[in-house]
Amino acid sequence: MKLFRCSCETKPVLYFENVQCGSCGRLTGFCPESMELRPFTPVDSQEPTAPVGEPGPTTPSATNVWQDDEGRKYIQCANWTQHQVCNWMLPLTTNENDQEPRSFSTDAEGLCPACRLNDIIPDLSVAANVPLWHGLEKAKRRCLFTLLELRLPVESDWEVEDESTPPPLSFRFMSDKDANTHFQRPLKGEEPVLTGHADGVITINLAEADDIARVQTRVAMQERYRTLLGHFRHECGHYYWEVFKVVDSEFVDAFRAVFGDENASYQEALDRHYEQGPPVDWQNDFVSTYATMHPWEDWAETWAHYLHIIDTLETQQSFSRNSEVLSDSVREVGLPFAVGSRDNTAASDFDAIMDLWIDASIVLNSLNRSMGLPDPYPFVLHKPIQEKLRFVHNTIKRFYQVSAQSDAGS
Ligand SMILES: [Zn+2]
Ligand SMILES: [Zn+2]
Ligand SMILES: [Zn+2]
Repeated sequence: MKLFRCSCETKPVLYFENVQCGSCGRLTGFCPESMELRPFTPVDSQEPTAPVGEPGPTTPSATNVWQDDEGRKYIQCANWTQHQVCNWMLPLTTNENDQEPRSFSTDAEGLCPACRLNDIIPDLSVAANVPLWHGLEKAKRRCLFTLLELRLPVESDWEVEDESTPPPLSFRFMSDKDANTHFQRPLKGEEPVLTGHADGVITINLAEADDIARVQTRVAMQERYRTLLGHFRHECGHYYWEVFKVVDSEFVDAFRAVFGDENASYQEALDRHYEQGPPVDWQNDFVSTYATMHPWEDWAETWAHYLHIIDTLETQQSFSRNSEVLSDSVREVGLPFAVGSRDNTAASDFDAIMDLWIDASIVLNSLNRSMGLPDPYPFVLHKPIQEKLRFVHNTIKRFYQVSAQSDAGS
């Protein structure tokens, strides 16, 4: 993931999911045509921003037009204005000096290129489904970001003319069990929903968005990693296998040389996998036990890991270019340890520690988001909290001084 910053005074880091800058209070949104997350002000408003430090988004109406710092005009994706599940923006105008922005087809329903891919969304009359859908959309947009960066086709609406056109991509978010029971109780009359890919359609069982249900499955399957983002990346792997097969005549033979013959019976492979488990020495050749099942799953697992790796490294790279954390300042900051990596307790400077930690925690969270994991440090340290932390810091330093004096005195 790229590093995004607001244009306001302190240039705070914005996460890809941000809908508001925590510093200036302006609305923020992602512009897929330029791959930038930007702050916006409403057009025709004298008081565009919420007061600094006052949380609470400026609540726009469905028809609001917004402009970025350069005056380009946008509207928000209809899935934000109606359901608050998307932070992508649709351009109304571009600037002359914009460098060939990627163009997306227009959409009558006011949906962004990511939301336009939805074929089936969860039943929103069930209140418990709404936050789960939100989780799915967040993971989907992260997955799409990397695919867009790779310039892979993600359009939903091209015409399939013949066998030389890959199928368009679409998503179905469906459930066969009741979200109110963490997906324990079956929904009457619903066919089983299997997470998977077929002919460009990626189906994700809504249960995967429920933390309890997903962890239960992860433990039952003896997996070490199971995330929503991982599911999207894996299933996209199956989709792009179909794309490469259609557009690249050498792909299938080359694939078979590395992964084996995909014509092996999938059902037999599935039965064998769940009866016998993976081969004893699977670690030598496969990235996961699931990858041992069939060449297609090996490809999809490998594809997902490739996206994990390049996205997380991109996150690290963009921070290393734009942040103090991965630099000399962290090597040189004085930490208040009597014993430890540095022994200079006198030089420990709370403000330097705090500045570095705020930066470091954002890097930590961003790296985890790139892996589809939750924030390891989901806290915001406002000034009053920093002052309490400073008090702790000073108390410990005083303790060193006091005990040094009493040692000297005894
Ligand atoms: Zn800002
Ligand atoms: Zn959207
Ligand atoms: Zn698969």
